Amino acid sequence: MASVDKAPETDIKIIRRKLNSFVGFANLPKQWHRKSVRRGFSLNFMVVGESGLGKTTLVNTLFNKEVLAKAAEPEEDENVENPSGEIPVRIETTKAEIEEDGVKLNLNIITTPGFGDSLNNSESWKPIVDEIDQRFDRYLEAESRVNRSQVPDERIHALLYFVEPTAHSLKSLDIELMKAVHQKVNLIPVIAKSDTLVDEEIQGFKERILADIEHQQISVFEPSVYDNDDEETVTNSKSLIGAYPFAVVGSLNEVTTPDGRSVRGRSYPWGTIEVDNGDHNDFVRLRQLLIRSNLEELKESTNEKLYENYRSTKLLNMGIEQDHTVFKEFDPMTKQEEERALHEAKLAKMEAEMKAVFQQKVSEKEKKLQRSEADLFARHKEMKEKLMKQIKLLEDKKAQLEKQKSLPQEPPVSSTPQKTRKGFLR
Ligand code: GDP
Repeated sequence: MASVDKAPETDIKIIRRKLNSFVGFANLPKQWHRKSVRRGFSLNFMVVGESGLGKTTLVNTLFNKEVLAKAAEPEEDENVENPSGEIPVRIETTKAEIEEDGVKLNLNIITTPGFGDSLNNSESWKPIVDEIDQRFDRYLEAESRVNRSQVPDERIHALLYFVEPTAHSLKSLDIELMKAVHQKVNLIPVIAKSDTLVDEEIQGFKERILADIEHQQISVFEPSVYDNDDEETVTNSKSLIGAYPFAVVGSLNEVTTPDGRSVRGRSYPWGTIEVDNGDHNDFVRLRQLLIRSNLEELKESTNEKLYENYRSTKLLNMGIEQDHTVFKEFDPMTKQEEERALHEAKLAKMEAEMKAVFQQKVSEKEKKLQRSEADLFARHKEMKEKLMKQIKLLEDKKAQLEKQKSLPQEPPVSSTPQKTRKGFLR
C-alpha cells in the first residue's frame, strides 16, 4: 500500500549500501524461527456440537493420537437434568503437547459436553459465549498490567462447529450458536459423519448450509487471499473456500481398501471410506486449514480482528458508562429544566419588584389624596369660621340699628343735608 505520510521536516539521510563484510543480522529470521521451534507453537480451539456427532473421534484423527479421551460416563453431579429438565453445558479444557520432527505444538482443546442435550436448548450457547468472553477478559487484564512480557494467550483461535448430517438444512440450535459466537471467534462449521450421506446429498446440504449462513449474516473463517501471494497459496486457499462447509469423516482405525492398501477409514459392506482421501471427504482440507497452512492466520485474525473488536467494544461500553455519569450532568433535559426554573425565578422577582413599586406609588397617591382632603377640610373650616364671624358682626350691627330705631326721634340739630344721612342709612 502506498504511504501517504509526509516526510518529516528534519533531514534524515537514508544510506542504502551493500555491506563489505558479514555483520550477522541476516540470521534474524533463523533466530526467530529457532526461538519459535524451541518455545513451540500453540493453538487453542473449541469443539462444539451435539453428543455423538464424532467430535472426539475427529480431534483424535486430526492429531493421529488420542488427545481427547472418549467421552467418559458423566460424574454423578454432571449431565444430570436439573429440576427444569435441562442438562447443563460444561466447559472442559484438555491440554496436549504433541511433537513432530522436533517441532512442538501445544494444544488446548476446549470441549462443551452437554451442548444440545437438553429438551430446551435455547440457552445452550450462553456458557460457550461466556467462556470465549472470559478468555478475552483475562487477556485484556494481563495485557493492561505493567509487566506485559508474558501475556498467556488463552483466547480461542478457532471454533469447530459440528452440524448433524441431516441432509436438510441448519437447525435453530446451529443458527443460534453460530450467531452468538461468529463475531468473537474464527468459526469453522463442518458436516459431521459425512460418510452417512451420499455425494448428492452432501452437495445439496452444503449449498443449503451456505445459503442459511449467508441469510443469517453469519461470518465464517476464510483464509485470506492476497494479490501478492504465490500462485500455489492462492489456489490452495480458493479450493479450501470452494469446499465449504467441510464434510468430514473421522476414524483412527486402519482398514484395508479393495485394492489392498491399509488406510485410516471406515468400512462398509459397499466399500471403504478413506479419511485422508480428498475425493472421499474434506478431512484433509480441514487439517490443511486448521494446522498446516492457516494456524498462524487463525491466531492473527483472533488477535487483530476478533479480540480488537471485543476490546474496543468493551472499552467503549465502559467509556459510555463513564460518559453516562458526565452526560447526566449535561443532560439537555435537566439543563432545559434548570434554565426554565431560573427564568421563572427571574420573572417572579421582576413581578415582585413591580408589585412593590406599584404599591409604593399607590400609597404615595393615597397619602397625597389624604393630605389634600385634610387641606380642603381645614380650608373649609377656616372659611366657615370666617363666614360665621362676618355673620356675627352683621347680626351685632343689625341689633344695634334695631335698638337705635326703637329710640324716640329727636329733631335734627344741624343743617346736615338729608340726602347724605339718608344715603348712609340705606
Ligand atoms: P462425540 O460425542 O461427538 O465426541 O462423538 P464420538 O467421537 O464419541 O463418536 C460417537 C460415535 O460415532 C462413535 O461410535 C464413533 O465411532 C462414531 N463416529 C465418529 N466419527 C464418525 C464418522 O465420521 N462417521 C461415522 N459413521 N461414525 C463416526
